[in-house]
Amino acid sequence: MNKKKRPSWDEYFLKLAMLASERSTCPRMHCGCVFVRDKFVLATGYNGSLPGHPHCEDIGCLVVDNHCVRTNHAEMNALTQAAIHGVTLKGATAYITNMSCTTCAKALIAAGIVRVVVFSDFHDTLATQFYTTSGVEIVKTEMPEKMINYEIEKYSSAKKTKKSK
Ligand SMILES: [Zn+2]
Ligand SMILES: [Zn+2]
Repeated sequence: MNKKKRPSWDEYFLKLAMLASERSTCPRMHCGCVFVRDKFVLATGYNGSLPGHPHCEDIGCLVVDNHCVRTNHAEMNALTQAAIHGVTLKGATAYITNMSCTTCAKALIAAGIVRVVVFSDFHDTLATQFYTTSGVEIVKTEMPEKMINYEIEKYSSAKKTKKSK
């Protein structure tokens, strides 16, 4: 039997962050962030406009100093989701697709994030410097396999349902 390699926990949560990035609405960048503590997903986020505001992909980006400022970054959106739901991030790991910008890094440090797992660098950021000074562990890894290998039909005894109208 051709046994597929199961993802490690870090790969698994990074893949969730990649999945979150699919919801991004800014054509300049798609980022995802997932906060995890004790293998428990605390909050997720992707870069996108404020609730009720138009999306970059519909009306174009709002660029200031070569950065699109219309969207909240993935880390900020995950952070605000945690805040709205009263979830503490103290001691949590941040799984992010792209290294934080300086502002997000500072917010995550202040929120109590102790570990960052990331596979892509980001330009013009002092994030690594701030994380390191604050004792946040940074794990730079390769981008996990993009393929999602679920084969539910193969293992499930359940029958396919017809899509409801
Ligand atoms: Zn944009
Ligand atoms: Zn940021």
